[in-house]
Amino acid sequence: MTKGFGATSTTDDVLAGRNLKGKRVLVTGVSAGLGVETARALAAHGAQVVGAARDLAKAEQATAQVRAQAANGGGLDLIELDLASLKSVRGCADALVADGRRFDVVIANAGVMRTPFGHTADGFETQFGTNHLGHFVLVNRIASLIAPGGRLVNVASSGHRYSDVDLDDPNFERAPYDPMVAYGRSKTANILFAVEFDRRHKARGVRATALHPGGIKTELDRHMAPGELDNLVGQINAQLATAGQPPFQFKTIPQGAATSVWAAVVAPAEDVGGHYCENCQVSDITEGAISPVSPGVRPYALDPEHAKALWARSEKMVGER
Ligand code: NDP
Repeated sequence: MTKGFGATSTTDDVLAGRNLKGKRVLVTGVSAGLGVETARALAAHGAQVVGAARDLAKAEQATAQVRAQAANGGGLDLIELDLASLKSVRGCADALVADGRRFDVVIANAGVMRTPFGHTADGFETQFGTNHLGHFVLVNRIASLIAPGGRLVNVASSGHRYSDVDLDDPNFERAPYDPMVAYGRSKTANILFAVEFDRRHKARGVRATALHPGGIKTELDRHMAPGELDNLVGQINAQLATAGQPPFQFKTIPQGAATSVWAAVVAPAEDVGGHYCENCQVSDITEGAISPVSPGVRPYALDPEHAKALWARSEKMVGER
């Protein structure tokens, strides 16, 4: 296990002295927040990054620093991907397959949080459809491009603790819609997808991991009312104070993206494969993990049988195997 990195480590701390020349990395969601910084750090250390975005004009602007800081053979190409449309997802995957170049790492980073009730182009609840099913189709279609020794990194969230996936009612057709529960479901699905992908691909040397990046001020709270995030943090801090714990602190964007690059190219694959990481370390979420907003153990998120069941349900939903 690599040592010496933690909650305050930045992308550049984690990659210091690393030469990523020759590595090819796909990062989804490079038009804002953590995806931009993940791409910047990797390209600055020599990786060839393919950045996927639904709004290419926005991504072009947002990644100016990625291109400016690319070094040692590193660079960035953009590709269009709308995870809320399986037509777009399949188009993106088909283009990557037709291109044929291998990937060393795929970082499934893009996501939405606490959206109002709505559906993707294919009729899936927006957060489950975008955060999980879109990535599920994309990654499975390009899985054969991930070279032996490569890995899949799913950017999940500690928000997984808000909810298990309801395999009988993934679209909130029966249960009343709750935007945070829907986010939790999609993030639990990100973790379970990594667990089952890891099981299916590790024999050929491809591993998968999921992670929580920390709490970072990005565009992720765009669907929350003004002040809602600060109120939530206030409630969390009140609970932490009652429990005698230090207050919650936001990470900077380079600190938030650090766990992604650590899991992608620094941590030994056998350490992170099939696991959930946080603060540039493997984190055992099955053993007494406590969240101030949703206390308790959440054994379902790494459960291999549950991961298989979600995989089968997801295949059925998107109509492909
Ligand atoms: P941002 O909102 O800043 O960035 C999200 C990225 O995802 C943007 O590039 C966005 O594109 C893209 N995206 C959203 N919907 C789609 C779609 N339908 N198709 C393609 N791309 C899409 O959020 P963060 O950078 O903070 O989030 C990155 C990941 O980190 C997410 O998966 C999130 O759940 C996770 N995370 C973040 C935390 C935080 O505190 N920030 C905490 C825990 C987890 P566009 O610009 O076009 O909207």
